[in-house]
Amino acid sequence: MAEQGKPKFAFFEGKIVPISEARVGVMTHALNYGTAVFGGLRGYWNADENQLFVFRPHDHFERLVQSAGLIRINLPYTPQQLVDLLNELLRQEGFHENVYVRPLAYKSTEMIGVRLHDVDDEFTMFALPFGRYVEKEEGLHVGFSAWRRVEDNAIPARGKISGAYANSALIKSDALLSGYDEALVLNEDGTISESSAANIFMVRKGVVYTPPVSGNVLEGITRRSLITLMREELGLEVVERDIDRTEVYVSDEMFLCGTGVQVAAITRVEHRNIGTGKMGAITERTRNLFFDVVKGRVEKYREWLTPVYSEERVR
Ligand code: PMP
Repeated sequence: MAEQGKPKFAFFEGKIVPISEARVGVMTHALNYGTAVFGGLRGYWNADENQLFVFRPHDHFERLVQSAGLIRINLPYTPQQLVDLLNELLRQEGFHENVYVRPLAYKSTEMIGVRLHDVDDEFTMFALPFGRYVEKEEGLHVGFSAWRRVEDNAIPARGKISGAYANSALIKSDALLSGYDEALVLNEDGTISESSAANIFMVRKGVVYTPPVSGNVLEGITRRSLITLMREELGLEVVERDIDRTEVYVSDEMFLCGTGVQVAAITRVEHRNIGTGKMGAITERTRNLFFDVVKGRVEKYREWLTPVYSEERVR
């Protein structure tokens, strides 16, 4: 289970309020029908610089606005305004530790009726101290889920739509209750999409593969970042293409990536080891570089980070 703290505040109905005041009624449309979209961001505490760095907030909020549009939620903020709002919230919390941020745009009218139009929208956001989302980042044991990934023509996976996460919850609970740490999820055509809430990479003979964004996956910001880092900094060939189920059995390395899981090695699939059964070299190099980047230790990629505290507060 994730190591997590509690927020003191939330941005709710246009202002920052104590978290205890950020409440919705039982008739709220989104609560009944899953008509909401959300995001998930991380902030990394850099003790040397006395600074909290949020990883690619602009990209996360751009995706949130895009997801909102898919289900006709009109967010009254631009991505930049959302970045500013988040900084204000984080400063008010005064975090000096790693955090997770949850923005949520939702259909707020209290009424009966399944539809997207003529329903009011609201936006809320909160942040909390957060450690690992999966315990065994260095070596996950996964199984193939019996559930299929929601198809683009059912609920678009490229939008982070709350209702679609019933699919993720079915996948995750069945995996955990069957003794696995996570699950690999197949599309209706049998190719691999992603895990319950993270994108997938596979390594075969030194080449890195990941399913394309047209493969019923979330267009992950960590995925996109790792593709850049592996190509530009590690000199690796990264290919976006469908991955067959049985390729997993013959792969040399696999890993998951996402804001929650960060970069997590998969070392065993059901009754078979992946590669040696230990984290592989490419996964390890990618993972180390990722953590250096998110903590602000790589100058070239500081542009991916937004510092929360003003210069004066930085020692
Ligand atoms: N796929 C799904 C289904 C997810 O929920 C997430 C987590 N947001 C990801 C992939 C990874 O996306 P990101 O790197 O943007 O967090």
